[in-house]
Amino acid sequence: MARISPGFIPGKRTAARAAACGAVAVAVTFGMTTSAQADYYDGGMPGRSFNVKAVGINDTWVGFLDTGRKNWKNSGAGANIGRKSSAKATFTAGRYNESWLGLYSPSGFRSINRVFKIKVNAKKIEAKAGSKMTEWCRSTATHELGHALSLDDNPGTRKASLMKHSRNRAKVQKPQSYDVAEVKRIYG
Ligand SMILES: [Zn+2]
Repeated sequence: MARISPGFIPGKRTAARAAACGAVAVAVTFGMTTSAQADYYDGGMPGRSFNVKAVGINDTWVGFLDTGRKNWKNSGAGANIGRKSSAKATFTAGRYNESWLGLYSPSGFRSINRVFKIKVNAKKIEAKAGSKMTEWCRSTATHELGHALSLDDNPGTRKASLMKHSRNRAKVQKPQSYDVAEVKRIYG
């Protein structure tokens, strides 16, 4: 998959991550980064502990965010994602006329002032999830938080991963052992 560098042209970056997170795989590469590992995403946060603010969503959607936070907290990856109204990183949801299910958009410099915006597309999930809407929303929320923990889409492994677009979203809602090991490797 495309390796996306968090540049500073919002439109470009958003388009790139939208392609990477959408239902339709589009092989587009903007810029280059170097990493020995295939699964590291440099758009993530500099540490495993950070806060996120819920913006413009009701209790149901705040619940999906909280499930994602809890899934990571209980995973053993050492991640501690808080929900705070003062946080600069944001999580929201809406009915967007876009192909992606979730969109993770980083900005700033990773080592200095990195923040992110996560958007979850209720319209697209509803169209694809059937009776498994809740499960798909939980899987998507936890997946997007995985990007904040520096995990890339579609890791090059045969093991199960929350970050694979091919995962069964009704069943794979939590970080898998591979994902946990990667977060520990990246931040360890
Ligand atoms: Zn993704």
